[in-house]
Amino acid sequence: MKTTVQNPDLARFVEAGTLYLGAPEAAELVRRHGLATCVEAIAANIRTDFLCWGDFDKTARVAAHSDVGVIELMPVADAHRYSFKYVNGHPGNTRLGLSTVMAFGVLADVATGAPLFLSELTLTTALRTAAMSALAAKVLARPDSRVMALIGNGAQSEFQALAFQHLLGITELRVYDVDPAASAKLVANLQGSGLRVTVCASTAEAVKGADIVTTVTADKRNALILTPEMIQPGMHLNAVGGDCPGKTELHGDILHASKVFVEYEPQSRIEGEIQHQPADFAVTEFWQVLRGERSGRDSADQVTVFDSVGFALEDFSALRFMQQTAERLGLGERIALVPPLADPKNLFGSLRATAAVPA
Ligand code: NAD
Repeated sequence: MKTTVQNPDLARFVEAGTLYLGAPEAAELVRRHGLATCVEAIAANIRTDFLCWGDFDKTARVAAHSDVGVIELMPVADAHRYSFKYVNGHPGNTRLGLSTVMAFGVLADVATGAPLFLSELTLTTALRTAAMSALAAKVLARPDSRVMALIGNGAQSEFQALAFQHLLGITELRVYDVDPAASAKLVANLQGSGLRVTVCASTAEAVKGADIVTTVTADKRNALILTPEMIQPGMHLNAVGGDCPGKTELHGDILHASKVFVEYEPQSRIEGEIQHQPADFAVTEFWQVLRGERSGRDSADQVTVFDSVGFALEDFSALRFMQQTAERLGLGERIALVPPLADPKNLFGSLRATAAVPA
C-alpha cells in the first residue's frame, strides 16, 4: 500500500514528473517577473541560505580542466534539498559562436532522491552571480558608492550593472572591454535603464574615480586587469572573472593592501584571486560577516575585495527561486526524467512498448 506524500513538490513529481524549465521559459520568467525583482529575490534567498551556513553539506566544486577551459560540478545539500550545477568556462567559445559559460542544474528531494526540478542555469547563473556580487557589495562597499567601473562587457556584464543599480543605488557606469563591440552591445542593452554609461579607452581610465570596480573578464591566464596604482582608498573591488586555477585578474599587491572576503574558503584557495597567496593569507568568509561573527569593512578608507568564484549554495538559492516562480507563473513542463513505473520494482517492464504508467 502506498503512503500519502506530504511534501507538495514531491506530490507533483509523483503525479506528473520532473518540472523542466528550459532557456526560453527561464527568459520568459525573468521578463514576466522583472529582472530587478528576480535579482533581489535571489539575493534574499542567498542571504537566507548563507545565514544557515552550518546546515549545509558543502564541498569545493569538482573540476575537469583542459588547456582551453574547465567543466565543473557543484553540489550542495541541506536536510531537505540537494542541488547540483553543471557549468563550464571556455573563454575561447565566443569565437565559435558559443557562450563562455553554459550551465544547467537540478534541485532534488533529499528524503527520496527524486529530481524535482531540472533547469537551465546559464541565464540563472548570470542572475545569481549579479545577486551575490550586489549582496556582498551592499555589506562591504561604502554606502555612498554611486560610480562603478565595469571591466569586461560580455555575457555577465549587464546583469552586474543592473543588480548594482537596483540593490546599491549605482547611478554611473564606466565601462571597458578589449573588444569595443562588447561595450557597444552593453551600451545598447542598458539604454533606458537610467544608468549613465561612459565607454572608456582603458581599464585605468574606467577605474579612475570609481567607488566600486567590477572585473568580469574571461581569459584563461593570470591576467593583470587591476594593478596597484589604479586602486584608490575606500574602493570596493568585485572580482568576478578570476574563478579557476591559473585564471586571475588582480595584481597580488592589491590583495595585500586590502581586506579580502571569499565565499567558501577551501574552494577559493584553489580557484580565487587568493590562489597565489600562502595558506595563512587572511581572508574572511562572507557568511561570517552576514551573521555578525566577523567585521566587514573597518573604515571608509579601507579597500575591500570580494574574491568571487561562485559557490554551489548560490545556485541552490537561485534554483529555489526559479522553481517556486516557475510553479507560480505556470512556466515549464513536466517531463519523465525517470521512468514512471506502476510497479517500482518492475523497471524491466518499462521496456515494453505499452509500458504501464501510473494513473
Ligand atoms: P564573456 O566571454 O561573455 O565576456 C568576457 C569579456 O571579457 C569579453 O567581452 C572579453 O572581450 C573581455 N575581456 C577579456 N580580456 C579582457 C581584458 N584584459 N580587459 C578587458 N576586457 C577583457 O564571459 P562572461 O560570461 O561575461 O564571464 C566573464 C568571466 O566571469 C568568465 O571568466 C567567467 O568564468 C566568470 N564568471 C564568474 C562567476 C562567478 O561566480 N565568480 C560567474 C559567472 C562567470
